[in-house]
Amino acid sequence: MSKHYIIPIFVPHFGCPHDCIFCNQKKITGLSTNVTQEEVEKTILEYLGYFKKDAFIEVAFYGGSFTAIDLETQSNLLEIPYKFKKDGLINEIRLSTRPDAIDEEVLKNLKKYEVDTIELGVQSLDEDVLAVSERGHTSDVVYYSSKLIRDYGFNLGLQMMVGLPLDSFQKSLYTCHEFIKLKPDCVRIYPTLVVKDTYLEKQYNEGYYKPLDLNKAIDQTSIFLMYFYINNINVIRVGLQPTENIQLGRDVVAGPFHAAFRQLVEANIIRLLLDFYLKDKNIMTNQHNLIIEANSNMISVIAGQKSGNIKYWKNIYGFKNVKIYQKNMDKDSISFNIDKYYDNINLIKLMDEFLKNFQIKTK
Ligand code: SF4
Repeated sequence: MSKHYIIPIFVPHFGCPHDCIFCNQKKITGLSTNVTQEEVEKTILEYLGYFKKDAFIEVAFYGGSFTAIDLETQSNLLEIPYKFKKDGLINEIRLSTRPDAIDEEVLKNLKKYEVDTIELGVQSLDEDVLAVSERGHTSDVVYYSSKLIRDYGFNLGLQMMVGLPLDSFQKSLYTCHEFIKLKPDCVRIYPTLVVKDTYLEKQYNEGYYKPLDLNKAIDQTSIFLMYFYINNINVIRVGLQPTENIQLGRDVVAGPFHAAFRQLVEANIIRLLLDFYLKDKNIMTNQHNLIIEANSNMISVIAGQKSGNIKYWKNIYGFKNVKIYQKNMDKDSISFNIDKYYDNINLIKLMDEFLKNFQIKTK
């Protein structure tokens, strides 16, 4: 499979008439000027110079609410990647926008420029969370725009935020389940961070908003990620991408920020699954060795950051030693060897069992 590259083009706050409490587009993108055709062209050419010839290349308009910009400016900006696409130099075009900035006229125009994927910044499908986040629309708009995007034959992307004001684990879980029903082609999950110069920062400073702590954000996101995995939904990002400014102490004032947030979540999923498995099978662990075999891509996820999972398994289960070996096997498979006990399991199936049990427990 050829390597997939993204050429990001940030469209800062350009055309967004809203002021969601968590958002400060200029801070998020690190840019403050309006984007021009020349800049789009320059960015694409610069990136194309770095990529291998047979790569799969996607131009992505990120940052603002692309389709809230006037149609003429949208067309001007899209003309550039469209030209590169027609010349066979890029493969796809994607953009992100607000659910209420989608209508038939907009979609017809995007079709004209051969846009492939539209990502909606949904954040939550709970009415109260949407209202206090000042999103400026209700959840029905999300269902309507998602259907329209699908009907017009675009790929649909959905973004959710975890830990917004008035949010709860149950409400985010509801959003996750509703996303699954909407059958998106891809999803992004962002734990809410308090960014400088936002209304959320003011609420935080005045003591009205308390962000999730890192462990809670990891625990909650682990459940959502497993639901998306078992439903075969591609989760293309978990946690905000660290940049020069997106760092705690810089533009991130507070909240569950970690540069390797996804790795922490995936390591936590392995920990939850092994706990569930060992309890379910009732295996003797004390003073035995735990030997795990897995695909090379899974080794560091299984071990956890700074070998956190290995230390945890030794502490909790009394394993004498925990060894993880690389084996030529499917990345969804993992095998355990504890004394005379051996099993080879499919992680997706185990997630499914775990979540069924979890559902019963949380009912
Ligand atoms: S709609 Fe998007 S760009 Fe506009 S303020 Fe809200 S989060 Fe920021």
